[in-house]
Amino acid sequence: MHETIVSEAVNAGGPRPMTARPADSQTTASLPPLSPPRRLLLGAGPGMVDARVYQAMTLPVVSHVDPYFFELTDEVHRMLAAVFGTANRFTVAISGTGTAAMEAAISNFAGPDTPVAVFVSGYFAERMSGIASRQGARVFRLEAPWGEAFDEQRAREFILRTRPRVVAYVQAETSTGVFQPGRAICEAAHAAGALVIADCVTSLGTMPVAVDETGIDIAFSCSQKGLCCPPGLSPITLSSRALEVLRARRTPLRSFYLDLQLLDQYYAGAHRYHHTASATLFYALREGLAVIFEEGIERRWQRHVENHEALVAGLESLGLRMLVAPVSRLSTIHTPLVPAGIDEGALRTRLRDTHGIEIMGGLGPLAGKILRIGLMGAGSRRTNVLRLLECLEEVLRVQGFEPAGSGVLAAERHYARS
Ligand SMILES: *Cc1c(COP(=O)(O)O)cnc(C)c1O
Repeated sequence: MHETIVSEAVNAGGPRPMTARPADSQTTASLPPLSPPRRLLLGAGPGMVDARVYQAMTLPVVSHVDPYFFELTDEVHRMLAAVFGTANRFTVAISGTGTAAMEAAISNFAGPDTPVAVFVSGYFAERMSGIASRQGARVFRLEAPWGEAFDEQRAREFILRTRPRVVAYVQAETSTGVFQPGRAICEAAHAAGALVIADCVTSLGTMPVAVDETGIDIAFSCSQKGLCCPPGLSPITLSSRALEVLRARRTPLRSFYLDLQLLDQYYAGAHRYHHTASATLFYALREGLAVIFEEGIERRWQRHVENHEALVAGLESLGLRMLVAPVSRLSTIHTPLVPAGIDEGALRTRLRDTHGIEIMGGLGPLAGKILRIGLMGAGSRRTNVLRLLECLEEVLRVQGFEPAGSGVLAAERHYARS
């Protein structure tokens, strides 16, 4: 099986003190070279950055109005559309992290008094609901326990009952590890004349997002998860239906920076200056996407499934239980429950400081109750799965937990079968 090569060296070590402080220009001259710790990033993001991406970021900067820059952005936007699974003409990368794209998606389509229906069963769905409220939208919420997906019938009834103009849901809820299928939501929304926004942040580049097949009108993501880049750009795509609504808007959006009409004119139209988009981040994204196409998008999805299944087999063999039912699991974010008596904060600290591995804890109602382990893009590798299981066993034993069996052996058995 093909595996992406990333820089492997990982130093363990806790936070280190800054050795020098630039008090004046003389001390500035003797500052030591930067040396951030090399972590194995297996949390909820950022994920591991591909070595080719780092290399691309050393290339010379061109300006945001250079013809070369627009050739590059056109190429990047075309590749993004392919990864999103769409023929949409409007697909761009917004300057900013995933939350910028989330805010752009909501603010450009939901203003004061717009009825918005939000499916809430996790932290990022809460954030969408909150951003819609800040816009002054009339927000209707359907809630489910964190860790569960919404069933189709309830979803349809909710949309029928609330008659929204915009429906928002999270396809890949990073706070819980749940994949939410969107077909039924999109069908019901379209029947009601609403546009659908889907947060595809942790599915893009790692799992099928299938924007067109699902019927999503506005899908967004970010650069630092499945696309193996540093944070800083956030892809967004609009269906022709959403683009019509956007272009028909006559009142200027209150946000200048996130106004998709202006970004449309900057990237696709007259290339009119809007802001100084970062050539360096676009180089990075171009390489991150090139790596995806060289591996083959379907092989890449398959690689994520394989490593996901091996990790789950290992976690369960150690005696951990998973929060999410098998049918609803993401193949990128794994959320085992913290065993009774284990201090998960101390566990993660030891994993980071002794083994150089970052994983994350739960948010909101799941704080202290789950771990969040990300296997995304360059991080989704057999060696990482085995290494994590080995280190996890060590940090659990330190706290007196007696594993039911060997996680590493269970994962190896899984690989041997597949
Ligand atoms: C990471 C993430 C975001 C965006 O977060 P940023 O920190 O702004 O990049 C949004 N939604 C989900 C589901 C995420 O996982």
